[in-house]
Amino acid sequence: MTPDVLIVGGGVMGAATACFLARDHGLRVTVLERDPLYRRASSALSASSIRQQFSTPVNIALSAWSIAFLRRLEDELSVEGEPPPSIGLVEPGYLYLATEGGAEVLADNHAVQRASGAEVALLSAHELRQRFPWMNVEGLVAGSLGLRGEGWFDGPALHQAFRRKAIACGVRFVAAEALAFETDRGPEVGMGQGSREGCSVHAVITRDGQRFAGGAVLLAAGAWTAPLAAQLGADLPVSGKKRDVFVLDSPAAPLAGCPLVIDPSGVWFRPEGRGFIAGAPPRAVEDGGPGDPDEPPLDQVDHALFDEVIWPALAHRVPGFEALRVRSTWAGYYEMNTFDHNGLAGALPGWRNAFTACGFSGHGMQQAPAVGCALAASIAGARCDAPDLGPLSPARVAQGRPLRERNVI
Ligand SMILES: Cc1cc2nc3c(=O)[nH]c(=O)nc-3n(C[C@H](O)[C@H](O)[C@H](O)COP(=O)(O)OP(=O)(O)OC[C@H]3O[C@@H](n4cnc5c(N)ncnc54)[C@H](O)[C@@H]3O)c2cc1C
Repeated sequence: MTPDVLIVGGGVMGAATACFLARDHGLRVTVLERDPLYRRASSALSASSIRQQFSTPVNIALSAWSIAFLRRLEDELSVEGEPPPSIGLVEPGYLYLATEGGAEVLADNHAVQRASGAEVALLSAHELRQRFPWMNVEGLVAGSLGLRGEGWFDGPALHQAFRRKAIACGVRFVAAEALAFETDRGPEVGMGQGSREGCSVHAVITRDGQRFAGGAVLLAAGAWTAPLAAQLGADLPVSGKKRDVFVLDSPAAPLAGCPLVIDPSGVWFRPEGRGFIAGAPPRAVEDGGPGDPDEPPLDQVDHALFDEVIWPALAHRVPGFEALRVRSTWAGYYEMNTFDHNGLAGALPGWRNAFTACGFSGHGMQQAPAVGCALAASIAGARCDAPDLGPLSPARVAQGRPLRERNVI
């Protein structure tokens, strides 16, 4: 039977949207996923943290909706006859630290967050010292602490929970790589010029020559979405930017109440199990680093990033961290939207039945519940109580209207 919706990419975005389409709207859905083991998928390599501290209201609204969903995950995604999903959500907050130079931006963002209903507190250096006695506040003038709705969870477990619920609701996951599309302008690879108003996609052709017909298509191929969208004439500035994560052992006493801390240097750290994880933006070429090329190999972790950037910043901020040891490392791709660092979610311009959800630039795991729910409703022509995805419309790229997010980690 022809599915109502074909989804390309079975990561957390594709799986969440598939789940809502089938569970809430009774639609028939097929998900095409080229790697059922998700070896390079961002969803398998995520730091899986959630925050309300964004600078754009739509991001705050999406994360607020998503944290409420995560808290009631058992009710939402349990499958009869299986153990209830468990993602180990904890909410110790995020703490953005600022020196004199960053204090104004911190205060501006704080005002946006408060106006959007986020529970955040602006703390002076003195208050930071009182609340977190393990922290060296030298050079700091303020910190913004999330009081509720911020923390971390097991992202791959959330991905699997969406997948299992989707399958239980009738969604079919097929191991296949989407290669081309058939549209009502005929089977073609590359649309060329001309108006695409009112065009429809009829089928997806896979690398192994299969043809999957469908009533609508959602491109949710993460860092690899742009070449697919280009075949439908849409220029989506999304590419894979490697981010390294360092897993750390600390012989020092645990840091009481430690949130996810973002140091003014750009280095971040948070507790993970009995240790910590930490990361930082890549080192620039002029500093002897690799820069930020598209899709470098994931096995080439930049160890000098830890030695030269992360360790000095951590040892300065937390004196107890001087004896830190790197236990292991991993790297994954941010599906980076280089246009404005925000997700692209909604209809592809000019197409009646082609949609995308990609480019979430490091905050897609936490937003997948809200985006999946809202996008499924939009594809089904129905309503839901998740935030309106209008501000994330992919049309803003061609229109040159960036929705800038200042808080990108
Ligand atoms: C190191 C790191 C830390 C992160 N930290 C956080 C965080 O703290 N909080 C947060 O919210 N987010 C975080 N993220 C981002 C988050 O993980 C991603 O935004 C999210 O997982 C994106 O999900 P996705 O489904 O869009 O992409 P993916 O998980 O990459 O899924 C896309 C899928 O599409 C498949 N695919 C690609 N091309 C094709 C094709 N042609 N045919 C069929 N299948 C195809 C791929 O195999 C892949 O499985 C982090 C990411 C990384 C790498």
